[in-house]
Amino acid sequence: MGFTKPLPDVDEDHRAFWDALRLHKFLLWTCKKCSARYWPVSLCRNHPNDPFFDNMEWAEASGRGSVFAFNIHYTVFDPAFNEDVPYVFALIELEEGPLFPSNIVGCAPEEVGIGMPVEVTFEDTIQGFTLPKFRPAKPQRLDLSNLNPYP
Ligand SMILES: [Zn+2]
Repeated sequence: MGFTKPLPDVDEDHRAFWDALRLHKFLLWTCKKCSARYWPVSLCRNHPNDPFFDNMEWAEASGRGSVFAFNIHYTVFDPAFNEDVPYVFALIELEEGPLFPSNIVGCAPEEVGIGMPVEVTFEDTIQGFTLPKFRPAKPQRLDLSNLNPYP
């Protein structure tokens, strides 16, 4: 019998975030007044005197960012992760600003570096959760159509 991995601890404030992941959408907590993005749930720091979360909502985000910090795990504390080592735990600096903790997948751990561009990928688990992981980003195609050679 295999070991069971611990599941995310979903509180009421973040239920919409986890529900959207099942649909493979990556949301950030978003200020309706100034569009600042947050994760986890937070009050907008641009309006410190506004009470409660009236100005805040979940809205889809780019799912892109870069590696802010990471470490490579070669040993496990929970035997459920025996087959995952070595794995990379990272803080992703999202394009929209927030730091997001996750794993880097889709490349060898030695290939991960600070500043590496990454994009979200969705891992559906047998327990019905979808986990947001990050993989090396495909190179963005440069749009040169707006370039004016004679400005
Ligand atoms: Zn705001």
